[in-house]
Amino acid sequence: MQMHPVVKDLIELHQLGLVKEEHRATNLSERVEHLNESMATLLGRLPADIEFLYRKMSDKGLSAVAPISNGICSGCGLNLPLSLIQAVRAEKDLHQCHNCARVLYYPEELPKRKKEPGRRVEQLQQRQSGMARFSSESLMIPGLRATDRDGVIREFAQKMAAEGLVDDAAKLAEQSLRREALATTAVENTLAFPHVRNVEGGGIAFALGTSRKGVKFGAPGRKLTRIVFFTVIPTVANAVYLQLLSGLTKTFSEAATREKILAADSPKKLWAALSRATKAVIR
Ligand SMILES: [Zn+2]
Repeated sequence: MQMHPVVKDLIELHQLGLVKEEHRATNLSERVEHLNESMATLLGRLPADIEFLYRKMSDKGLSAVAPISNGICSGCGLNLPLSLIQAVRAEKDLHQCHNCARVLYYPEELPKRKKEPGRRVEQLQQRQSGMARFSSESLMIPGLRATDRDGVIREFAQKMAAEGLVDDAAKLAEQSLRREALATTAVENTLAFPHVRNVEGGGIAFALGTSRKGVKFGAPGRKLTRIVFFTVIPTVANAVYLQLLSGLTKTFSEAATREKILAADSPKKLWAALSRATKAVIR
């Protein structure tokens, strides 16, 4: 299915805006300048009325584009008439929601949580405090097998699917790689935060993998990456994710803390080390 070029640009602008927020959360302010340039290029080729809409919405911290989900504008919740949904599906012209003015599009299918969550997932959702809100011992991978970025992402995606967090490992890996193509999620201090947004159902969940040897993940200065957090983020959880990201970046800026994580050689030890290290920042 071919997407309308303006819709494509708007989606990319929205995604780059999210990357900018991630960079701020991980103290990568020097990379924000580069993103601003890419965004200016995209903005410059939008039709004038759509550019105006984008600026108006983004001033309020809102997206100018909204996927149709179950016949509803996901931006404002309005029930859309069938004729409009069909017109959007045809992708010939731009169509805006009559209520919130967002440009509508028909989304591709994204990975979802499994319909019948496994035991571990239920436990995860019942817990209320600390790291246990977001992860568990069964999601720890001490000693990643893969040695390059794409392999590591596929290893994580398989883990997430095996633990019942998503229905489709291949789809999850593909989405994560697309996010990496936009801008690397590898940061300073041998950390990387690959992730997939807009996963339907459940809360934020991450797996942690380590590699003493290090993997090439596209970090600044081609440095190797040793500690990788792979996160699935539901549509409504962006603010919580940015807090988590900022907390983890801060925690692992300490070399001694990273050393403890890298020394853990079993899922049990890794989970214990992570819980101890993050006690003060993640409540
Ligand atoms: Zn709307």
